[in-house]
Amino acid sequence: MKYETIIGLEIHAQLLTESKMFCSCSNKFGDKPNTNICPVCTGQPGVLPVTNRKAIELAIKTALALNCTIEPSSVFARKHYFYPDLPKNFQISQYELPLATKGYIEIEVDGKKRKIGITRVHLEEDAGKLVHVGAERIMGAEESLVDYNRTGTPLMEIVSEPDLRSPKEAAVYTQRLAELLRSLMVCDAKMEEGSLRCDANISIRPIGEAKFGTKTEVKNINSFKAIEKALISEEKRHLEVTEEGEKIIQETRFFDEQTETTTGMRSKEYAHDYRYFPEPDLVPIEPSTEWIEEIRQTIGELPQQKKERFITELKLSPETAQIMVADKQTGDFFEAVVKLHGQPVAAANWIVGDITAFLNEQKMSFNELALSPAQLAEILKMIDTGTLSNKLAKDVLFQVLKTGKQVKEVIEGAGLTQISDESELTKVIEEIIKNNPKQVEQFKSGKTAVLAFFVGQVMKATKGRANPQVLNALLKKALH
Ligand SMILES: [Zn+2]
Repeated sequence: MKYETIIGLEIHAQLLTESKMFCSCSNKFGDKPNTNICPVCTGQPGVLPVTNRKAIELAIKTALALNCTIEPSSVFARKHYFYPDLPKNFQISQYELPLATKGYIEIEVDGKKRKIGITRVHLEEDAGKLVHVGAERIMGAEESLVDYNRTGTPLMEIVSEPDLRSPKEAAVYTQRLAELLRSLMVCDAKMEEGSLRCDANISIRPIGEAKFGTKTEVKNINSFKAIEKALISEEKRHLEVTEEGEKIIQETRFFDEQTETTTGMRSKEYAHDYRYFPEPDLVPIEPSTEWIEEIRQTIGELPQQKKERFITELKLSPETAQIMVADKQTGDFFEAVVKLHGQPVAAANWIVGDITAFLNEQKMSFNELALSPAQLAEILKMIDTGTLSNKLAKDVLFQVLKTGKQVKEVIEGAGLTQISDESELTKVIEEIIKNNPKQVEQFKSGKTAVLAFFVGQVMKATKGRANPQVLNALLKKALH
């Protein structure tokens, strides 16, 4: 029997707000444990939560970009469960009446475009964080410490329809969504740091069958690469279990990135286990049409629209265009260089090549770059005029990246300017011809390939600073 795979994803995105979801504590990541806390986010008796307006704005912005309907009235609800990182013993989330519903995002996999439905976008607060001593998970740990700094930080949950049909589609969907969140500046979407988290529901069914098979939920997917791996492994398990005539049990499974397998964590909870009820201390969210329209105006060009424009108008390859739209900073930087220098492909090559390599090596992001668009444009212009060879330009670029110095300063400091002066180069060429009579003979007897040897010698003598065009012309003249 042939089966098809059904996948739906729940993505949790930490919102880039200054303060938490229902109190004024800082939403900053990486501070000393239990310093950004107050009676509200630690669940003390008698406190009252107040909804963060900015969090609502960012969620509406995302929902609009995902073609969702913003609900005229949405309600917060208490989701009850017990865990040490949840001091109130309930999480404020949205349940029956979410902020936004019925949207979609378009993805392209292997040249095929598909619309993936978005069931809902809702707001909630995050739980705290347990730090396990001596083990990665609570199982096997000597002790576990709790940090409440993350408790109450704003989260946006984006739930997809079960429209994804392969682990690869799931991975691409998450990439597109992450890139959208980054470009809207609502979330930095770093899966490795936990600012974007993904839970995946997966099931299989015989092709042609309308009813869904029993699903399992895969947790602990901590990187973009892990999404595809986790789902491939779980898809394989579903097929094996089914083909052996056994039944898949509805449960939550833990993905282990080391072994690339999933193991059962706990039987899946059902909604009624959480005893949801409307949060009595918060008013419904009822955004006015004017406010929604105001937010819509701030969206601007979306990453995939920008990609199309880069391909058709600026003649970038689809691969390069994709890298340029991965986050807002890269795209903005690229466009600023193009405005100053006018050659998109050249600018893109430097950004995708050496600059990206440098950033990866230093584990830096684009906005930490010590290079301005004007500086890159200046370097590119110097290549055009022959002041710098490609190799020298690279050296200058790395010096600027490393030191943050001005381009001119780097060039003057290191004496890196290209030598185009004919008399200066002729002197070097004459010297080399004098010292290599054998090669000169070879050249004269018709072995013109030996020209490369002379080019190499001159480059060596000038430390790569000879202007290649001028050098070639002078060498040929001298040898003849
Ligand atoms: Zn607080």
